Order: sequence, then C-alpha cells, then structure tokens
Amino acid sequence: MKDVLDFFHESWPVRVVFRPGAATTATPREAAALGLRRLLVVCGSRGAATARAVADSLGPACVGLHTGARMHVPADVATRAVEVARAAGADGCVAVGGGSSIGLGKAIALRTGLTPIAVPSTYSGSEMTPVWGLTEHGAKRTGRDPVVLPRSVVYDPELTLSLPVPLTVTSGINAVAHAVEALYAPDASPLTTLMAEEGLRAMAGALPAVADQPDSLEARGRALYGAWLCGSCLGATTMGLHHKLCHVLGGTFDLPHAETHTVVLPYALAYNAPAAPEAAATVARALDAADAPHALRALAARLGAPRSLAELGLREADLAEAAARTAGQSYANPRAVTAEGALAVLRAAYEGGPPEFPGD
Ligand code: NAD
Repeated sequence: MKDVLDFFHESWPVRVVFRPGAATTATPREAAALGLRRLLVVCGSRGAATARAVADSLGPACVGLHTGARMHVPADVATRAVEVARAAGADGCVAVGGGSSIGLGKAIALRTGLTPIAVPSTYSGSEMTPVWGLTEHGAKRTGRDPVVLPRSVVYDPELTLSLPVPLTVTSGINAVAHAVEALYAPDASPLTTLMAEEGLRAMAGALPAVADQPDSLEARGRALYGAWLCGSCLGATTMGLHHKLCHVLGGTFDLPHAETHTVVLPYALAYNAPAAPEAAATVARALDAADAPHALRALAARLGAPRSLAELGLREADLAEAAARTAGQSYANPRAVTAEGALAVLRAAYEGGPPEFPGD
C-alpha cells in the first residue's frame, strides 16, 4: 500500500513577493492590490526604524505605527494594539519584524477581522500560517483561523542583514524544524514533502554561508528563501512531538523560542526516526549526511548555537513536569509519546550529548 498515492493538500491564498528592497517598494503595491487604504504598521521596539521606513513608504495609506509587539503576544499587549487599530479606523495591518510582530498582527486580525500583511525579518515562518498565539496567566493558547493568515507576505532579504549571526542560526534551525516535522506529518502531501526537502537544503546550505559572511545578500536571500518554504510546510501540515516539546518549554518554562527549537530538534528526530525512516532519510539527503539527527546537532554545534536545555536555563527538576505536560496532550506523531519517552528526549536534550534512542 505504501506506493499508492493518497493525500489531501490545501493551498492558502497568500501573495508572496521576494526581492531585496521589497519592504519599502512592494508593500505599498501589495496593500493597494488587496484594496487596503488605512494601514496600521506594527513592530517591536527593536524593529521600529525599519517599520518606520515601511510606514513612510505607504504614504497617506498609513494611519499609524505601533511599536508594542512583545515575545509570545501577551494578552494585554494584544488588547492595546486592537484598541489602537480600532481608534485609527484601520482596514489592514502591516506587521514588520519576527514572529512576535507577526503574532501581534495576527492577534489584531483575530479580534477585528482586518487584513494582515507580513514583512518578516526572521525565519520563524509565522507569516505563512493561519495559526495565532496569545499568552495569558502564564500559559500560551494557540488556535487556527484563516482570518489571521497574512494575505500578502513581502520577503526582503535586506531586512535580515541586521539579524545577528547567533539569532540567524537559531531562527534558521527553528525553520528547519518545521520542515523536519512536515516530512512525517499525517497530512503531508507530495507538495509539502518537496517544499520541506528544498527548504532544508536551502537553509542548511545558507546558514554556514551567513555565519562566514553575514553581509552577503546572496546567502541571506537563500536563508530567507528556505524560511519561506519551511514556513509553508508549517502552515500546511500538523506538527508533532518536537513542536509540542518546544511549546511546553517556551510556554511553561519561559525558554527562548528559536534556541529551544535548535537544542531539541536532533533529539526529537532521533526519537521519531525509527517510526519515520523515510522522513529521516530525506532530512539526511537534504543535509548531505549519513544520519539526520547527528547532522542536525553537528550543524548547530559548528555554528556555535546552544547545545543543551541546561545551557538555556532549564532546571533538571523541571524535566519530569515538562515530560508529563508533553505526554499528557494528544497529537499526531509517528511514534507513540509516553511520559517515559518524552522524559528520555528531554533528558537527552537537557544534557546535550549525542542524539541516540533505541527504536521500538
Ligand atoms: P522575535 O520576533 O521575538 O524576534 C527575536 C528578536 O530578534 C527580537 O528581539 C527582535 O527584535 C529581533 N529581531 C527580529 N528581526 C531582526 C532583524 N532583522 N535584525 C535584528 N534583530 C531582529 O522571535 P522569532 O523567533 O522571530 O518569533 C518567535 C515568536 O513567533 C514566538 O512567540 C513563536 O511562538 C511565534 N511563532 C508563531 C508561529 C505561528 O505560526 N503562529 C510560527 C513561528 C513562530
């Protein structure tokens, strides 16, 4: 039965522009093409200068610049931004920045129904998904709603030139994680598999080149291209154990998003590989390596990324709770996730040693 094609695939209605300089040249055209006349630009405090340039490029179509985005979209931050959007009478929102800014744009769209546009400056991939997140009382809630999906995404590699190399590396491996889990997702299709392999190859090739030459627009462009493909995989498929672990570690233990993905990925894949050998083989092929989990760990190590959850500040005493929270949820994963299994992955990631687990 393995060779009989059987799949479902839904393509999202997203316009994508990819070009150096596009943030200020293409965003006004995209807004016009979507029929938007009153745009609120949102960003975090560090991205304010870039967002100001995008706001200026919109001319009279810009009705405000809101610089209040914060990591994981705290509910009060979202409420404030919704008030600003309503007071300005905005019909659209342009989120400029990383996943936190895009997350705030999505939160505004969720509550007001206005049309989101994204101008990403990291590789988080949020711009390609209909998934929103909100953090309240120490817990992060996520949901899917087509209203939050950016209708246009403007990729401008020039925006990523300022992304420091350590952040480039972890954000890039965060993108790689989307492609890895898309390969064994229950709703993978031939198209997502193609995007995943190409996205992995592009990102894994680009990251060392960016680390060598951070001002190379060519290398930055390859990384952002990889991020687009990996983000498209995230938007089109259902993520498994790796993303659940990172969600728990970020939401409950406040570990940093991209760094946590970077540390956990080799171990989550090593756990799943015996139940998803084709996916592991595809990752290995894309990385031009014999063994996917070891190659992912070596890539991160070579680029100076954090190696262990201990390094990220997790306490050993937290491992059991994190494992129980991960195993206590139901989600699709190629290998059954028991509390012992989740604990084994977490302990290995905590220690940062070689990613090896016995198969089923
Ligand atoms: P982020 O947006 O918080 O950015 C990380 C840091 O990098 C910030 O300090 C930011 O100011 C800075 N930064 C961003 N772009 C920069 C640039 N070009 N130059 C210099 N500094 C820059 O982090 P992130 O990793 O992009 O996104 C993480 C958030 O996105 C998390 O909350 C995560 O849950 C969410 N996310 C959501 C989805 C989704 O589909 N909903 C997908 C991926 C991530």
